[in-house]
Amino acid sequence: MIKVCKFGGTSMADASAINKVKDIIFSDSERKYVVVSAPGKRFSGDIKVTDLLYDCYYEVLSNGNCKIAFAKVRERFVQIAKDLKIDLDINAVLDETEKDIVKFKSEDFTASRGEYLSARIVSSYLGFPFIDAFDTIYFDLNGNLDEQSTYECLEEYAQNYETAVFPGFYGRGIKGFVKTFSRGGSDITGAVVARGVDAGVYENWTDVSGFMACDPRIVENPKRIKVISYKELRELSYMGASVLHSESVFPVRSGNIPIHIKNTFAPDDEGTMIVPNVEIHNESDIVTGIAGKKDFTVISLEKSMMNSEVGFALRLLTILKKHNISFEHMPSGIDTVSVVFQNIDEDDVLRQVVEEIKEILKPNSINVYKDIALVATVGHGMIYNIGTSARLFKALAEKQINVRLIDQGSSELNIIVGVSTDDFDECIKAIYDEFFIVK
Ligand code: ASP
Repeated sequence: MIKVCKFGGTSMADASAINKVKDIIFSDSERKYVVVSAPGKRFSGDIKVTDLLYDCYYEVLSNGNCKIAFAKVRERFVQIAKDLKIDLDINAVLDETEKDIVKFKSEDFTASRGEYLSARIVSSYLGFPFIDAFDTIYFDLNGNLDEQSTYECLEEYAQNYETAVFPGFYGRGIKGFVKTFSRGGSDITGAVVARGVDAGVYENWTDVSGFMACDPRIVENPKRIKVISYKELRELSYMGASVLHSESVFPVRSGNIPIHIKNTFAPDDEGTMIVPNVEIHNESDIVTGIAGKKDFTVISLEKSMMNSEVGFALRLLTILKKHNISFEHMPSGIDTVSVVFQNIDEDDVLRQVVEEIKEILKPNSINVYKDIALVATVGHGMIYNIGTSARLFKALAEKQINVRLIDQGSSELNIIVGVSTDDFDECIKAIYDEFFIVK
């Protein structure tokens, strides 16, 4: 089986971290292809190399050179190369890079050099060939990944190279210039390479031992999620659990390749496995994780016989569209419907929306709740277990938490409750205690 290993910024931050990367790669002969980020922060308050590079770009725009900002980039890489004692003339590579940054005056090209330089160093340190993402990852006319050209190319490379190091974050745009993914995009490169070389697993090495069942800032030491499906991950990340770059799921998902989240600094920890599907029949696995987002507004309408009024929801959504408001959820009952959207700054707009709803839809009642937090409880196991929602609502009632809104998607993969933002933490704690703490 081939394993593709992507290492994030903290794993690239200095020589001692890169040394750990080497141990990880050489401890398993299936770890053949490596994708690296640019060096990240070494300590809190430190600056990521990618951010230093964006500074270089702005300096070039205003001064025609990037002497000040690039000196900091140089210092980071020279130190790493020196500490690793690699056989690469890093100053020569850096001189050329600085010249190109000034010559091309391209934001994407400049930002991509952190990954480029990281990959050159790691390639030399591991003795694996360096393969430039510029020659393997292609974007199409709309700036999206050109899957066909990219996968064909990666397949060919995989046939010719048994091992390789790829820089993350960038590829070749349609006009033949370097183009980057959005920030954090090395996760996407890792997924694309995994798909292209037909890997058995995509290992994503970071600085935490996988995903937690909820935010550790709210619940102390929450349980780690051992296995999670792509769908559950999508629900939890949408609700604010910051994990992988959200776009990195698509390439591996279509190739049925699991993602294994691992910790470079505790490589023996099991981590979290993200898999296409999870079959859960075990009582203790009803809920996989809990996540939430604050600052929503809910407009709730009630109107008798709403169910027989053709086009009611359409007219409601048309009013929102007119004011450029994108709704996130629309839970409904027989005579009730609510729309949930992110808080809008201008009170005037909200007032106008309410007026128009009253005028056009003539509801019996209309209520507006601001500063609502949504909390999603996610898990495939909920499908098989009777009484999950009863347990959830009882737990909230016991803590005197007022539920303003309930939305259970038809997939039964999640139950979303809307509570006042002030109850946000308590709500997550109560749900966590109910489903994760053995009583
Ligand atoms: N270095 C890039 C960033 O900081 C990409 C990445 O690390 O994934 O966004």
